[in-house]
Amino acid sequence: MCYVNDIIRCSSSCKFYLYADDLAIVSVHKNQEDAVRNLQKDCNAFLLWGHDKALTLNMNKTEILHITSPNVNRQGQIKIKTHYLDCLHKQDFEKWKNCNCLKTLKQVKVFKYLGVFIDENLNWSNHIDVLCEKLCLCAMKLNDLKWFVPSEIMLQIYYGLIVSILNYGIGAWGLASDTLIQRIQNL
Ligand SMILES: [Zn+2]
Repeated sequence: MCYVNDIIRCSSSCKFYLYADDLAIVSVHKNQEDAVRNLQKDCNAFLLWGHDKALTLNMNKTEILHITSPNVNRQGQIKIKTHYLDCLHKQDFEKWKNCNCLKTLKQVKVFKYLGVFIDENLNWSNHIDVLCEKLCLCAMKLNDLKWFVPSEIMLQIYYGLIVSILNYGIGAWGLASDTLIQRIQNL
């Protein structure tokens, strides 16, 4: 961990959230162009940091999620480039902006971060879909067990299995609409 903990020094305007080898770089701004510029700047710093430590970014696992209100017009796709090294060393935003590096990160509508499915409008429907599938499976298994497992053991299984699944990330997805929460309550 000592190897990667100084990664947060790459941050100038964005927030870096590091958990084991999972890194999320969050850029928040009311103006989309400024948010993208800040993100690109910190991504460039991160790529340089990686180069110094002989680490490379896994493009297949790195994605962009643009979170905004459904009422806000999205100004096109977010383009974050993974610049080539000679370009990164120019240290000049205008040159970075007009360079010929072709690699851009893939933009997605839903991103799974630490087991929670975060969607672009924060309505949590994708996470609740997955949650309902898991809970249905658990309910079926509990139903099979109830004929030959004592009720106190059933209660332990319920807390160990169902409640732990339900509680995971509830601080985030628990703010979903009543209609979505109702889907879980109906199970
Ligand atoms: Zn470039």
